[in-house]
Amino acid sequence: MTRSGIPQQLSRMPTRALLDTAAGLRDQGWGHQVSYSRKVFIPLTELCRDVCHYCTYAKTPKRIEQAYLSPDQVLAIARAGQLQGCKEALFTLGDKPELRYSAAREALAKLGYASTAEYLAAMAKLVLDETGLLPHLNPGVLDPDDYRLLRPVAASMGIMLESTAARLCERGGPHFGSPDKTPEVRLQAIENAGKAKIPLTTGLLIGIGETRDERLESLLAIEAKHQLYGHIQEIIIQNFVPKPGTKMHDVPEPAFEELLWTIAAARLIFGPNMSIQVPPNLNSGRLAELLAAGINDWGGVSPVTPDHVNPESPWPDLERLSAETAAAGHQLVERLTIYPDFIEQRETWLDSGLFGRVLKHADASGMARNDHWSAGSSLQQAPQLEAAANPPHQRIRAITDKACNGERLDEGEIVALFNARETDFEHVRQAADTLRREVAGDTVTYAVNRNINYTNMCTYRCRFCAFSRGKHKDLRGEPYLLDMDEISRRTAEAWERGATEVCLQGGIHPSFTGETYLEICRTVKETAPNIHVHAFSALEITHGAATLNISIREFLKMLKAAGLGTLPGTAAEILDDAVRARLCADKVSTQEWVTVMRTAHQLEIPTTSTIMFGHLETPRSWAKHLLILRDLQAETGGFTEFVPLPFVHMEAPMYLKGEARPGPTWRETLLMHAVARLVLNPLFRNIQTSWVKLGKQGALECLNAGANDLGGTLMNESISRAAGASYGQELPPEAMRELINSAERSPRVRNTLYGNADPDQARHAFGAPPLEPLHNRPARELKAAHEQQTPLRRQG
Ligand code: SF4
Repeated sequence: MTRSGIPQQLSRMPTRALLDTAAGLRDQGWGHQVSYSRKVFIPLTELCRDVCHYCTYAKTPKRIEQAYLSPDQVLAIARAGQLQGCKEALFTLGDKPELRYSAAREALAKLGYASTAEYLAAMAKLVLDETGLLPHLNPGVLDPDDYRLLRPVAASMGIMLESTAARLCERGGPHFGSPDKTPEVRLQAIENAGKAKIPLTTGLLIGIGETRDERLESLLAIEAKHQLYGHIQEIIIQNFVPKPGTKMHDVPEPAFEELLWTIAAARLIFGPNMSIQVPPNLNSGRLAELLAAGINDWGGVSPVTPDHVNPESPWPDLERLSAETAAAGHQLVERLTIYPDFIEQRETWLDSGLFGRVLKHADASGMARNDHWSAGSSLQQAPQLEAAANPPHQRIRAITDKACNGERLDEGEIVALFNARETDFEHVRQAADTLRREVAGDTVTYAVNRNINYTNMCTYRCRFCAFSRGKHKDLRGEPYLLDMDEISRRTAEAWERGATEVCLQGGIHPSFTGETYLEICRTVKETAPNIHVHAFSALEITHGAATLNISIREFLKMLKAAGLGTLPGTAAEILDDAVRARLCADKVSTQEWVTVMRTAHQLEIPTTSTIMFGHLETPRSWAKHLLILRDLQAETGGFTEFVPLPFVHMEAPMYLKGEARPGPTWRETLLMHAVARLVLNPLFRNIQTSWVKLGKQGALECLNAGANDLGGTLMNESISRAAGASYGQELPPEAMRELINSAERSPRVRNTLYGNADPDQARHAFGAPPLEPLHNRPARELKAAHEQQTPLRRQG
């Protein structure tokens, strides 16, 4: 439909067809999920220089006790919201009251501010700093300077256009005497917001005397601004409700059909991806019909404060809203005040000072985080996720059926699985659990192994990495470097303690060459000829090959001859170059990672595969990642397992700078295991869960969400600990066995390739003596040796 043709086409369409078309478009853009924002309502001032004839919000100075809420009052309301789990602080206020009332000017002066906008900026900052609630500001008409002032403290803002019908401002009209309701003034304010790159809410107030054609003109006027600036994140279609004590108290409400028609018209004009909202409290009992007309959002709903603009219409409680939404075949989902697309493009739409504040509240889909769990923190138990009683959505069921049949899912289908919540989530988890039982039975495997991280000095600067150090001691500690004697000592000790594998990885030390990695392999094999060498990330492989000036293939062949058994599929992080560019720009690209893995597989060096998730990527990146792994496995069959690694955020540099989310949510963590089981079926048999990042309880839950392997006992874990994880360095076989038995599953000690572990080694592993203390030599002590280009030679 072209814009110019829209009015004629809409007027010709029968209402039912219009509503059905609108609902179909909504499904395309938003699926069956309907959002709301959990907010607290802060009426900063009820004074307004306008006198709209339907409004009970605005009061004259004589009718109120104080012109503005004090900072203490603002904070008290925000804190009450914070306690109730709100994420949004909605500031409502009249339009520039200081231009009309001396009471406003005097109150502002007393507070120490020259304008309402200045006071608003200060109060939004106060709420943001003290509570972390995200301010959404509704201060009416603003000029470019006002937007500049407010942008650093506003996650989003709003100004209703209401109507472009200028005649509504004439004598007798609802906007007579309200200078800020002049259509050109409001459209200019909407444009100013676009130029200032503000994610903006706007919309129509219907039933105040306008015609259908005028509503279409209003919608098209908003759309024209959106075409220019792309800043409109939602459109509210609000129905006029007459209020006692106003000039319009006896004007009838618009017919409900008019509301439905306008919703559908907005959906057709703005298309599938625009959020279209109707306040549920103004339409109690008719929510299903609103949904059937194409809306996808209920707006802000407060569990704390009344709707100060419509005090006669209380918010529905959230349980009822959820039940009514579900009864209409949809699922209620909490969002933030800023919408997901705007969060994703935050460099454009948010002041950089707000990135961390917003990301703290956001999940990978850009919706509100639904728990306080974080990977690596032993302070928190994995939360219980409750499934709703209603059946899963038919699309989710169809996708899991397809996956269980072994068919390749497409990106959109995988994203839909990652967005599963409540009953859909539970269905995905159960489907993965059933599939795991069919594919891998009830046995849970683990390996007895030892991590050896030979250095934390690294020339790379991956922004998520809390492990690496530069050349010199800093606040995070001193760089270390193991010599070959220590690598040998740790290997011998591991073998004596029943290990069948050493897992060797480290930073890219400036002195390391391909020869270093070859010598590491030789040292391990000389020490314990039967131990399996599981070593070197894809980055270490490319670095080693480059420093020897040989191909990856040649280097891998040399490593294999020196004793390398398998590669850990690390350095994969997220196989989506757009994300890698922000996460680890100087590291191997997706293609380079795939090339290392493919070449290894061709040389019969199996590898694991990993994903690090929960930082700044979206479910679309996860889908791309899983499909790359699936396709390569179909080609080579060389992956032994898939290992989801939730991002441990606490000490990660990019989190500390406010540039990443605080890891995945618990729902996302379980889903990563479950969805991987489904997407990679039947090509991957083994999905591992990481006790280091999830703790015993978390890992146990993942065993019921598609995982069948607990990884290794590790003996020394340092990379996750450096990032802030607190689940310890070793999970000995006794603890592994107890954990697996507690899940009523059968433990099996495996080797790296998922065969049975050497029985003698497995016996030794139980009751092993405590580890000797580690000798992490400060890197500076080996400086002289580096300079002689013999960095790690064994002394003995
Ligand atoms: Fe270095 Fe590896 Fe850390 Fe990147 S992730 S900085 S390559 S140690």
